[in-house]
Amino acid sequence: MSSAPWLNYGRQSIVEQDIAAVAEVLRGDWLTTGPAVEAFEKALAQVAGAPAVSVTSGTAALHAAYGGLGLGPSDEVVTTPITFVATASCAAQLGAKIRFADVCEDTLNIDPAAVAAELTPQTAVVAGVDYGGHPIDIDALRPLCDSVGALLLEDAAHSIGGTYQGRPVGSLADITTLSFFPTKNLTTAEGGAIVSPDEDVLRRIRRFARIGMVRAKDELQHPDEGDWWYEVPEFGLNYRLPDVLCALGTSQLTRLPSFVSRRAELVARYNTLLADLDGLRLPVQREGVDPAWHLYAVRVLGGRRREVFDKMRASGIGVQVNYIPVYWHPVFAEAGYQRGLCPVAEQAYSELISLPLYADLTDSEQDRVVDTLRGILG
Ligand SMILES: *Cc1c(COP(=O)(O)O)cnc(C)c1O
Repeated sequence: MSSAPWLNYGRQSIVEQDIAAVAEVLRGDWLTTGPAVEAFEKALAQVAGAPAVSVTSGTAALHAAYGGLGLGPSDEVVTTPITFVATASCAAQLGAKIRFADVCEDTLNIDPAAVAAELTPQTAVVAGVDYGGHPIDIDALRPLCDSVGALLLEDAAHSIGGTYQGRPVGSLADITTLSFFPTKNLTTAEGGAIVSPDEDVLRRIRRFARIGMVRAKDELQHPDEGDWWYEVPEFGLNYRLPDVLCALGTSQLTRLPSFVSRRAELVARYNTLLADLDGLRLPVQREGVDPAWHLYAVRVLGGRRREVFDKMRASGIGVQVNYIPVYWHPVFAEAGYQRGLCPVAEQAYSELISLPLYADLTDSEQDRVVDTLRGILG
């Protein structure tokens, strides 16, 4: 093992301002479900361009989105295999049938042509993922969704702060889900959110994430019982993000522009420093998008991914593979999903390695990543 410090593929950036924001809440009257929640959701809506509901994780955001829509065994969800398992598993757990559509060869985002082939009258949701931070092809996916009356869900766990045709991620799809895990573009430790311009959809999702409880007079069957009264018209779960973590989120949001620009700077630097290295394919950026880069995922050609992964890790560089094709996991394989289903995704998976990318990564640390990679491939 190398004695140089470990450089992980992603990590948080925490400064005194973030710590002070959390400490202030700890000294106050509310630890959860107080004013910091409302403040965070308001600030988030500003950045995302649509109203937001905070929840305890990106997984909770997906579960609340699918659950709030009332997805069940008569529904189908078309999604990508190149994602964290929750994009698919949270819908499968509700009984919905998952149809995997292959990805585009360049961005590794869900391929609209492949989506078209998986649509049926039962399609309730098409769920794309902004892989690495690069927004999905909204203009191609929107008419496909409309053609069967499906909703477009954008899993934007990687991409808050990015834009598509000048419009912010969060204002593009019917439902956008976010994650604030420490490796993501901003953090609340654990945390997530759902964003939607559709007031009714967001109300149902919020209710699911708040134990199914309603208090507003116009939602109650018995509105005149007294001020203590609430009702549970449908089942839900407690996915509330506490004030302590929302305060961290609000502080982090003020720093998001600097996170996004530093990540872009590092991506441009990787692109330059690795341009001439044979046996490597670098991430692409399509015209009209301004990604908030979460991953710098390169493709190692010539069957050398495992070798590069092991040698980078042995040199103290915490590379990662994002992602194992979702339907390879036993829970899907045992339900009949077979290898070979999405060949573009599977080929990409066999080559992918995420190099360290985070706002606090220094130029000299990045140089160490590049030099180590050159030493292996050069
Ligand atoms: C991280 C992530 C999630 C889940 O978020 P958690 O906060 O870790 O639960 C979902 N989808 C994608 C694409 C992710 O990267």
